[in-house]
Amino acid sequence: MMDSGLIGKVEKAKRYAEEKDRITINTFEAKFRGENNDHIVTYDHGKWNCTCNYFQGRGVCAHTMGMEIVLEGMVEPSEQLV
Ligand SMILES: [Zn+2]
Repeated sequence: MMDSGLIGKVEKAKRYAEEKDRITINTFEAKFRGENNDHIVTYDHGKWNCTCNYFQGRGVCAHTMGMEIVLEGMVEPSEQLV
């Protein structure tokens, strides 16, 4: 049985989850299951990295761009998308 204080927190959490602009991601590491291989995407204060070959040459790839779409508004965009 949840006490009323916790119920209030749950309601607040649901409201916060709709307000993504409150959230800025500083760092994360994610495993991305690509079509051929798994890749590790990392993000550190605006700096993206991915273990795939394409990223090594271009500084951007489908995995970082995909993560960027998922986390829209909570991460800084990777550079080249202009
Ligand atoms: Zn990649």
